[in-house]
Amino acid sequence: MKAVLKAKYPLGLMMMVLLMSLFSAQAALPAPIEKNILILHQFASQYPAHQAFNEEFVQTLGQETGYKFNYSYEYLNLEKFAQHDDYLKATAAYIKLKQQYTNWTPDVIVASGGANDFLSRFSQELFGEVPIVSVWSADESRPVDVSPKHVLITALPNFDSNIRLILSTQKNLKKIYVVVGDSYSEQAIPAQIKQAAEPYLAQAEFIYLNELSYADMMITLAQVPDDSAILFVRWVADAKGESFVPVRVLSAITKAVKAPVYGTQRQYLGTGIIGGYLYNQGILGQTAALMTLRLINGEEPADLVVLEEQSDEYVFDDRALNRWHIDTTTLPQKSIILYQDEDIWSAYGIYFIVGTLIILLEMALIANLVKNYKRRMKAEQELHQLNHSLEKLVDGRTADLKEATVKLEELNKQLDFASRVDCLTGLYNRRHMEEHLHQEHQLFLRTGQVFSIMIADIDDFKQTNDLFGHDAGDVVLTSLSDLFGKLIRSYDVLARWGGEEFMLLFPGLQPEDAPKRAETIRMAVQNHVQTYQKEDLNITITIGMATIKKDETVEALVKRADEALYEGKRTGKNKAVMSG
Ligand code: GH3
Ligand code: MG
Ligand code: MG
Repeated sequence: MKAVLKAKYPLGLMMMVLLMSLFSAQAALPAPIEKNILILHQFASQYPAHQAFNEEFVQTLGQETGYKFNYSYEYLNLEKFAQHDDYLKATAAYIKLKQQYTNWTPDVIVASGGANDFLSRFSQELFGEVPIVSVWSADESRPVDVSPKHVLITALPNFDSNIRLILSTQKNLKKIYVVVGDSYSEQAIPAQIKQAAEPYLAQAEFIYLNELSYADMMITLAQVPDDSAILFVRWVADAKGESFVPVRVLSAITKAVKAPVYGTQRQYLGTGIIGGYLYNQGILGQTAALMTLRLINGEEPADLVVLEEQSDEYVFDDRALNRWHIDTTTLPQKSIILYQDEDIWSAYGIYFIVGTLIILLEMALIANLVKNYKRRMKAEQELHQLNHSLEKLVDGRTADLKEATVKLEELNKQLDFASRVDCLTGLYNRRHMEEHLHQEHQLFLRTGQVFSIMIADIDDFKQTNDLFGHDAGDVVLTSLSDLFGKLIRSYDVLARWGGEEFMLLFPGLQPEDAPKRAETIRMAVQNHVQTYQKEDLNITITIGMATIKKDETVEALVKRADEALYEGKRTGKNKAVMSG
């Protein structure tokens, strides 16, 4: 707990010190002196010239840190009502009432050009001795001193300069149309221009449109010949008393005419005019702000030089210069050319770089895609070839295998044959005969067709071998085989059953027919003359026979035939014995 408190105290202390130092710092700063400024303009608030003036005025004073300025604006709407006495009085009364009710009085009155007549008449009543800074456009009638504390900023007329400019930039020029309105504030202008034009009448004809209505003025301008130029001065109201905003009139004119249009005021630039020696309300606003400050700072109006402010500059619109093919070398020195097309690189460089990067990136992506595609195609081709050669290989292997299988089958057959055939006599062997016996037995079981077997054993064969040799015995075996083969039918089966024993299978042979068949065979052997090395061998056989019986197995059948054979041997040999 103690530790926490300890930590808290230094923090609180620091905060207090900080706050105190802040308060003392603020106390050290002097409070700004408040000054009220009333800005008075002759036309309605939407006039760009007024706004240009206000902007520069406020900005210039805004750089002064010692004061806090409070502004109030009044727009007299004189473009409509300059000659209406009642209106002017009512406006004055309104301004007075407004001051009373708001309890707000100006320290300085600032008036742009054209408000001087109003001030001459009402300033004393409205503002008493409050100092006034007013602009006087020298194309208007000179104002009387409106106040004992009056600073007048004179804006010199620029007609002479503009006429010379038009003549120097337009070759083969024949006519200059002067556009100026017929409002109260404009009525003194044509005479001034005529005076300025005097030296140049031999070079061009000057046509003044101030006595036309707006519509007639537009029709006239729409028909001007090619060798013309237009000098737009102002058009606040037409001869019919209809009021206009000059900038808008000018925009309509530059769209309608087929000749270059020159202007006299800076705010006209951008409407399509070429430009000109332009009266700059912004500069006048700056000058008015500086004069205001000097008054506030205590200088006497009488000590301030009554200025003849040259606020004009040669300013041009590059787009209009190009449109009318005006050679910029014919323009006066120190001309300002605005709206120049930025060079393509600075205007679009970033787009170009970004665009190029995007294109390069896309190209890289496409190249990569193409590369991958080619790689894939190559891989697919290789795979295809591999598949193809594999298929060929497999086909080859399959053919080899088939060939081998065929060979193997052949070999198997040969082997099977070899395993069933006796190599000495070429007859089937015992194994093969046993298979046949079982097949025949199956047939018997299914169909009831009987079969008979005979076992024929050579009599005293051992003796033959002993007397004439083993080879003689072989000859006997072979020749008896041939003989038996001739004695049986194609569906009978003959095999060498043992050393000198043969088995004969007779499908379908009934028991009553068997002895006869056996006898035929015994007789054939007995009658068969077999010689060996010119010696007669006298071969006989004994036959034991049996016919399959119901429910008898092959083994039992063979046993019965064997027993019949044994019976034959025992009872004298060279005979056929039927099993019972
Ligand atoms: P039995 O009349 O009782 O049948 O008398 P056997 O002499 O014929 O019968 P035994 O069983 O005493 O003798 C059979 C003889 O057959 C013995 C043997 O040497 C002979 N033999 C068996 N196979 C062959 C052979 O392939 N070639 C030759 N040359 N003799 C064989
Ligand atoms: Mg025997
Ligand atoms: Mg024998």
